[in-house]
Amino acid sequence: MKLTIAALTTFVSAASAFTPSSSFLGKTSVAQNAVSSGSNMEMRYKVAVIGGGPSGACAAEIFAQERSIDTVMFERKMDNAKPCGGAIPLCMVGEFDIPETVVDRKVRRMNLVSPTGAEVSIGDTLQADEYIGMCRREIMDKYLRDRAIEYGAECVNGLVTRIDVPADHKTSDSRYTLHYQQFETGKSSGTPKSMEVDLIVGADGANSRVAKAMDAGEYNFAIAFQERIKIPDDKMALYEEMAEMYVGDDVSPDFYGWVFPKYDHVGVGTGTVVNRPAIKQYQKAIRDRAGDKIAGGKIIKVEAHPIPEHYRPRRVQGRMALVGDAAGYVTKCSGEGIYFAAKSGRMAAQEIIKLMDGGKRLPTQEEMEKTYLKKYDKAYGPTYAVLDILQKVFYSNNGAREAFVELCDSKYVQQVTFDSYLYKRVQGNNPLDDIKLLGETIGCLIKGYSNAKPDAVFSNPIESQKRL
Ligand SMILES: Cc1cc2nc3c(=O)[nH]c(=O)nc-3n(C[C@H](O)[C@H](O)[C@H](O)COP(=O)(O)OP(=O)(O)OC[C@H]3O[C@@H](n4cnc5c(N)ncnc54)[C@H](O)[C@@H]3O)c2cc1C
Repeated sequence: MKLTIAALTTFVSAASAFTPSSSFLGKTSVAQNAVSSGSNMEMRYKVAVIGGGPSGACAAEIFAQERSIDTVMFERKMDNAKPCGGAIPLCMVGEFDIPETVVDRKVRRMNLVSPTGAEVSIGDTLQADEYIGMCRREIMDKYLRDRAIEYGAECVNGLVTRIDVPADHKTSDSRYTLHYQQFETGKSSGTPKSMEVDLIVGADGANSRVAKAMDAGEYNFAIAFQERIKIPDDKMALYEEMAEMYVGDDVSPDFYGWVFPKYDHVGVGTGTVVNRPAIKQYQKAIRDRAGDKIAGGKIIKVEAHPIPEHYRPRRVQGRMALVGDAAGYVTKCSGEGIYFAAKSGRMAAQEIIKLMDGGKRLPTQEEMEKTYLKKYDKAYGPTYAVLDILQKVFYSNNGAREAFVELCDSKYVQQVTFDSYLYKRVQGNNPLDDIKLLGETIGCLIKGYSNAKPDAVFSNPIESQKRL
């Protein structure tokens, strides 16, 4: 989600086929991986991608195109509708060949609403062909998954329940054993099964079992809540090309509330890390704030899910690598994770394939850290850092939130923000404008602090203790 702050970056910089050698492959894996191919006995390594969301599907798609590797993707629910605002940047449409049919709405205006109700509508700087894509996850995830299957990934409709990790998995090529419940059409319960694999990509989201199995460590998380609301057609017309973002301690003490248009309804939601027990109170507040705009609407779906706040302490262990939410790749401030999930899945798969050298060998932990993790952190580490600072500066109290909305009235802020959100790059920065912006920021903060109503005090010592 979104843009806004996505790159007040400027402000921040101003303000502050095979024959594995026996040394690489364990004995059991050779025997168990042998598959008959015509008259030749061909040995192939097996990669398991756990999770068929954007990170898993985009990883599986790359692995599947490498003919020397067998790729199996596990997805527990083939029609999963991941709780999500579904906003994607324009660059994802191009980079991941997302067809128009997957994008429900092209948002060209974002309405920002401050705690006192001041509104700023941004979007004037967008070109005619620029937009934020709004998707339903059940449609997008299925599209990406089907494409991976078309490329040759085997898809198991199954819930991975346990992973046996051999004690020597960091020093040998011993295989992992996946235990899973396989689901079949027409059957109410799953069938317990197991499978041995050589490498695991954990793309199983915020409650990742792969992360647990590899002892990846914990992360702080926000709880995000969303109601999908079918509103009358005349009200829906307002959201034809427009999304809304509300800030204030009533809708969230540390995040924002949103109204995002979907195909024939709106997603209305909010999130918080610091006061998770009060999420329903914040959800009521965002509904109240949207008020007349969604009045008469019918709630058709209620959904909630954790959003990771930062990376897990360990993202690669032995031959197990985490991607997407399982790794913790969601930006603070904007709560954006779809693009980073798809990108990390693709990047991890590409680096692992290179290391596997045509299916001749398995990569080591160190190699995956030096390639996949290093490249990912180099590309996106600064983005996470900047958005972390922006969240701390602008979402921590009502005064700063007022200032934030006022600042977004600046065309320069809008330009930089959209550029960095839509294309994941900061472009066209102008040092003189940056200095001017710093002055404006200070002015807005002073004004915001003097006019704002104080934030409500809350106490949840038990929850706070759980924070890392
Ligand atoms: C309310 C809310 C709103 C959000 N809004 C936005 C937004 O507007 N834009 C944005 O960019 N990001 C948004 N995000 C974040 C975004 O949803 C995530 O970052 C993104 O979905 C991560 O993709 P992923 O593939 O890593 O994980 P997921 O999308 O969580 O996919 C994981 C997949 O793995 C499957 N799975 C899980 N466990 C198992 C298992 N044991 N066995 C087999 N399969 C398994 C699941 O069924 C699922 O399909 C939002 C998040 C929330 C909660």
